[in-house]
Amino acid sequence: MSNLPTPQELLYEGKAKRVYRTADPQVYLCQYKDDATAFNAQKRGSIAGKGEVNCTVSSRVFAYLARQGIRNHFLAQTGPTEMQVRALHILPLEVVVRNRAAGSLCKRLGLERGLPIEPPLVEFYYKNDALGDPLVTPDHIRLLQLATPEQVEVLGSLALAVNTHLRDFWRRCRLELVDFKLEFGLDEEGQIWLADEISPDTCRLWDLEGSEPRVLDKDLFRFDLGDPVAGYQEVLQRVLQAVGSQFLLS
Ligand code: UDP
Repeated sequence: MSNLPTPQELLYEGKAKRVYRTADPQVYLCQYKDDATAFNAQKRGSIAGKGEVNCTVSSRVFAYLARQGIRNHFLAQTGPTEMQVRALHILPLEVVVRNRAAGSLCKRLGLERGLPIEPPLVEFYYKNDALGDPLVTPDHIRLLQLATPEQVEVLGSLALAVNTHLRDFWRRCRLELVDFKLEFGLDEEGQIWLADEISPDTCRLWDLEGSEPRVLDKDLFRFDLGDPVAGYQEVLQRVLQAVGSQFLLS
């Protein structure tokens, strides 16, 4: 373990993660926290074990996506709540893909929760806490110079490709992928890489085996739908059963 990059300067602290520089300028260290927030941080709390679940699930998902040819920032899981990632310049955009109506889409358009969406919908949100992360069109993105029109095209296609692979991944865990959020970053050459995390914090995951959908994601916390600690642990167990439980991945 002695040659692993150690955390140095804290670069960024978000709602669910801390990111540190390491001695290697190409490598950052992400530390996942149990803190939970919702509704633009108006609801705050903590979900015991969430950091470990999200770090481990994200590691398995990123490794799976890399095997499917989706370039992403994951390098290795180096502890229960800690992963090494490639240093990138993160674009200030959230890319959401939806396979069924839920959350803000139902609120905004009055659609029935659970309505299948085919073909899947791609949406862009401007990452800006002060503005409450508003929905933006490609023209808004151009106006605000958040990304070039070419980059927006690539982000949209990449998000749909990730959706295809993620649906397969979660199906193996007997879960349906309702919607999810992605973030992307640029390397020094301007190449686009998938970044951030992919976990029950960022995906809506439903078990459709019963008569009613059983929610197994952050909506448990957002809307007090059940025990989030048990829900997150169940997702972790299903992922480990589906993809193997070895701890260190490189
Ligand atoms: N999402 C996320 N971070 C955000 C906003 C949304 O990870 O800051 C995820 C959310 O978990 C869901 C998807 O993106 O899987 C779509 O979220 P939606 O727009 O419905 O917003 P919400 O209901 O979370 O307000």
